[in-house]
Amino acid sequence: MSPVRWVSTRGGGGEVSLAEALERGLAPDGGLYVPESIPRVDLQAIPAQAGFPRIAESVLAPYLAGTPWEPYLAELCAEALNFPVPLRPIPGGPQLLELFHGPTAAFKDAGARFLARTLARQPRADGRVRTVLVATSGDTGGAVASAFHGLAGFQVAVLFPARGVSPLQRRQLTCWGGNVRSFAVDGSFDDCQRLVKGALASTTSAQGPALVSANSISLGRLLPQIAFYAAASLWHRARTGRGLNVIVPTGNLGNGVAACYAREMGFPLESVDLASNANRPVPDFVSTGKWTPRPSVPTLANAMDVGAPSNGERLSRLYPDLARLRAVVSARAVSDDEIRAEIRAAYAEWGVAVCPHTATGLHFWRASGAREDTAVAATAHPAKFEEVLRPESVPITAPPALASLLQRPVSEEKLAADPTALEKILVSMS
Ligand SMILES: *Cc1c(COP(=O)(O)O)cnc(C)c1O
Repeated sequence: MSPVRWVSTRGGGGEVSLAEALERGLAPDGGLYVPESIPRVDLQAIPAQAGFPRIAESVLAPYLAGTPWEPYLAELCAEALNFPVPLRPIPGGPQLLELFHGPTAAFKDAGARFLARTLARQPRADGRVRTVLVATSGDTGGAVASAFHGLAGFQVAVLFPARGVSPLQRRQLTCWGGNVRSFAVDGSFDDCQRLVKGALASTTSAQGPALVSANSISLGRLLPQIAFYAAASLWHRARTGRGLNVIVPTGNLGNGVAACYAREMGFPLESVDLASNANRPVPDFVSTGKWTPRPSVPTLANAMDVGAPSNGERLSRLYPDLARLRAVVSARAVSDDEIRAEIRAAYAEWGVAVCPHTATGLHFWRASGAREDTAVAATAHPAKFEEVLRPESVPITAPPALASLLQRPVSEEKLAADPTALEKILVSMS
């Protein structure tokens, strides 16, 4: 297999290796790294009964070919993707692709765990401890902290808005200890993100702290998510002989782009439908072909409260004209009222408790004609959103992984929304 060539979505800067793309995050011209062309997969070579980690190997093989990680591919997939990803039929409803059986009960565990194990196996000359710096408005920070917790050679600094996360999310961000430090920033999520971006951009010298980014544009997070949709489509075809439509609850478009990549690699996927909450940049893009960033508005599906999806350029690069985009992708905005109604309906009709993000996908399914051969991605466990489900009288039980997290002691530090304050901390950690 010839190595995938990584180029910027904006066309500048030439080709780089996967290691360089991971190291840099953003391309020098401000674009995102994408494969110059999407590699095709040989479906015949995948064993008929393959489970999730084995399918992930086939998905990731062409992207890791010729890189330092090629010899570790099977281990990386077995260690990072070691939780079930069931494709569950709902009688009378769509199928649910449950992506929330990882340690922090949201799909971000897969990407965070794969990124952590990839970085841990990266050959490095200097042997310095690296600091993973991450800003979070909810699920990302917990998944990243969990993935790097106890991993030799790494420490983690999680920045979250002191007044912007739910009580359960806060516990998940602050319950780690050891090599993880959690900072409650006196400011908004945007302040946290600005601090992290500033620190990553300014510390390129060999003396400064060795910082690593784990944000949503990281290829280490995006690539393993392709396997979700590859696996679902293979399992569906084995059962029915038909291709699969997927509906993906969408915010920064990491999962949505991963589903499109799976389709373009040749997995038996038909349409990719993107469900948004009241933040409409993605539906507006699919109807006009233009990205119009605007400030995000808070909704019940808060992990999707995104006004300018960071993976937008990857979607436009994949489908450069509207006709091609619309041949595969459709999109729809779902209001908070529709989310609440769907949470009630899913429980009343099917006895299924869903999180508010998953509810946007189920609403999309109903509102677009309740098609057969469709799977809705269930992106978080409903128990993470008790405060939304309880008023709708939907009973929920926390899964064991989540319950045991809630037993751990918590600790957090305060941080001013000020670059100098963060720099002091990072220097003290290096
Ligand atoms: C992050 C997240 C999303 C949005 O995923 P993107 O890849 O950013 O589009 C949806 N649901 C949940 C529960 C999430 O944590």
